[in-house]
Amino acid sequence: MLHAPTHPRVDAPPARLHLLKPAADKAAANPLDHLFDVRLMSRRRVLILDYDGTLAPLRSPGAEPCYANAPYDGTRELLARLRAQPAARVVFVSGRPAREMADMLALTPRPEIWGVHGWEHLTASGQLVRAIVPTQARAQLDLVRALRDKLHAVGATIEDKHAAIAIHWRGRSVEQMRATRALLAPLETAADLPPRLDSVFLQSFDGGIEVRPHGPSKGSVVRSVLREEPRDAVVAYFGDDLSDEEGFRAIAGRGLGIRVLPPAATRDAARRPTSAHLTLRAPAELHAFLTRWTEQPVAAGST
Ligand SMILES: [Mg+2]
Repeated sequence: MLHAPTHPRVDAPPARLHLLKPAADKAAANPLDHLFDVRLMSRRRVLILDYDGTLAPLRSPGAEPCYANAPYDGTRELLARLRAQPAARVVFVSGRPAREMADMLALTPRPEIWGVHGWEHLTASGQLVRAIVPTQARAQLDLVRALRDKLHAVGATIEDKHAAIAIHWRGRSVEQMRATRALLAPLETAADLPPRLDSVFLQSFDGGIEVRPHGPSKGSVVRSVLREEPRDAVVAYFGDDLSDEEGFRAIAGRGLGIRVLPPAATRDAARRPTSAHLTLRAPAELHAFLTRWTEQPVAAGST
């Protein structure tokens, strides 16, 4: 069943969240009922969705830097129904390269995808636009690339995505993870003399750490999408990880941030502070939410 968190995790003042304000004349039996009020659902509806950990289970890349990951059973069918709705827009955003995402989603017609945390934009017409990585950031990413052999030696898998480098340790031992972090530590500690990383930053994700230049992010993707939409569009962002917090913060005040928990999320993981407004567990609660989103709104007074 869908549920609101026991302790609301809302960064923005509730008054700014027009989407969350229940209709005055409707006694909602379910805390989310007001989200699906006909007056909201008859408007333009926009979904922005992360992929790994949100629409698909988290899995280890093994020894392969690029790894396929199929969505949860039933997710593709739901996405197809969502995209077929009138006045609906579905946008995908991922840390993965956009074309890799397109292959995994395997949707027709082609979807709009923002890859590498917003550094790539694959339009529905198939055009790929890449943001230019500044020279200094490129040089600092090269410092990480220079560690490739050492990182491999301690069991890490390197995923080089041009504008970002992900270092995966999912499934490795605690010792291997510590050895990986130790190799990266000289690049991130302020005490070290140059070369230090200041044009890029390190961000943990579920199963590793990623080196990214400052610039585009899932937050900037949300802002870009919102700029193209009418002010009263109903918008929701779904994501599972730290990089999605940028999306949650960017959507606050304009829409709903929904954190998706993997089925086997630990209690500690579930308690991680978040700027999302709601938490849903994948895949059942997520599917229930999206199924309801695909249903035609029931006219007020007809129930
Ligand atoms: Mg994710």
